[in-house]
Amino acid sequence: MAPHPQHVVVVGAGMVGLSTAWFLQEHGVKVTVVDRDDVAAGSSWGNAGWLAPALTLPLPEPAILKTGILATLKPDSPVYVPFRADPRLVQFLLGFARHCTEGHWNKAIEVFNRANAGALAAYDDLTEHAGDGRVEEPTLDAEPFLAAFVSETDREVLVEEFRHVARTGALTDFELLDAEQLHSLEPSLGASVTYGARLHGQRYLNPGRFVHALAEAVRARGGEVLAGHQVEHVSQRGQRVLVAGTNGDSVIADAVVLANGSWIGRLARPHGVRKVVQAGRGYSFTVHPEHVPTGPVYFPAQRVACTPLGKPEEGLRVAGMMEFRSPDDPLDQRRITAIVDAATPMFRGVDWSQRHDEWVGSRPCTTDGLPLVGATRSDRVFVAGGHGMWGIALGPLTGKLLAGRIAGAGAPGDTDLLAAFDPLRS
Ligand SMILES: Cc1cc2nc3c(=O)[nH]c(=O)nc-3n(C[C@H](O)[C@H](O)[C@H](O)COP(=O)(O)OP(=O)(O)OC[C@H]3O[C@@H](n4cnc5c(N)ncnc54)[C@H](O)[C@@H]3O)c2cc1C
Repeated sequence: MAPHPQHVVVVGAGMVGLSTAWFLQEHGVKVTVVDRDDVAAGSSWGNAGWLAPALTLPLPEPAILKTGILATLKPDSPVYVPFRADPRLVQFLLGFARHCTEGHWNKAIEVFNRANAGALAAYDDLTEHAGDGRVEEPTLDAEPFLAAFVSETDREVLVEEFRHVARTGALTDFELLDAEQLHSLEPSLGASVTYGARLHGQRYLNPGRFVHALAEAVRARGGEVLAGHQVEHVSQRGQRVLVAGTNGDSVIADAVVLANGSWIGRLARPHGVRKVVQAGRGYSFTVHPEHVPTGPVYFPAQRVACTPLGKPEEGLRVAGMMEFRSPDDPLDQRRITAIVDAATPMFRGVDWSQRHDEWVGSRPCTTDGLPLVGATRSDRVFVAGGHGMWGIALGPLTGKLLAGRIAGAGAPGDTDLLAAFDPLRS
């Protein structure tokens, strides 16, 4: 293994890249974070911000195949695959389908159980750090965290998922609610929403604000965070790496971490990373209900996630959709309309026409649902990404694990997780 690097470049200023930079600083490493755009310009901005171990589960699951491949070709379907001949998309979909089996799902859940056990503690490292460089934006206890349904059958699907996870060794702390309990906890729910579940021990945050505070913390400890710096390729040069920018603005360092979200494949492939990272695009917007929920509200059957953004006047973020297409395609208004249509009957007192901050972002999805974290064929080129639906919840844990690995100071328990996240797996 290469000696402990003194200076590391991190490509990508999202939750994953900045967390890795912060934890590298804990080991005394100098960091330069570069982003082609700016801090939180990728999917780390408009997401739902849930730090919800109860729901942090791998995406490829048997139920997705049961919903039917044909349904995914309809633009208003919550999982949408546009029909086009893109060989890498086909390769992704075939690999994804192969992992939608009970056996693969169980194995991946067991890995997630281990990751979830350390995910919130890694956040506490960031926000409770003594001295310079603490992240000055809190994570919030989700009180309450509600899942809401129009039928008992819909609720049973989630409850069965919790039972399934319990069989793999992780207990979910939740209670069932009747219509009266549900509406007294959350008066903005629509009349047809009559079955509920309340999850305990979950948190949430305002993701854009948190990632900006994290960038400030990295800077406060002497790190550089450079906007407008698009990386074209990275290559090992003897004991060092060259991180070449499109504008000829190259940086030379001891090691590099590729943390550029859904765009990671192009930079990582030359270093032996064969797993396809496909953008699973999601959409969100903000509304101002007469009563803004005090915690996250989840409508699993509609695949819609809602999160209060802070003070009541900041409103409620409404998010959803999983659209497998290029991360650089423009926002498709039909997908926003589909979320509005799905969410409208679930609330009262919302003027949906007054929505703002319409946004699309790309979840970096892998075929087996597990992230890619660790060294590539080069022991100076590392990868941190591919977290799919859960890069906010797992970003700080990823940074902690990878920084320990790079600095040669990982905890003994880290090895198993890093083995499961090996970027060179097929
Ligand atoms: C609608 C929606 C809801 C979600 N809700 C949740 C949730 O509740 N909880 C949760 O845990 N996760 C959630 N996610 C997933 C989460 O947003 C992602 O997993 C996470 O943000 C990924 O972070 P990242 O740092 O890997 O990538 P990104 O945040 O996408 O950052 C990558 C960065 O790399 C930069 N970049 C790209 N290419 C280059 C290059 N060549 N050179 C330099 N810079 C480059 C980009 O500009 C970008 O800033 C949600 C996602 C969506 C879309």
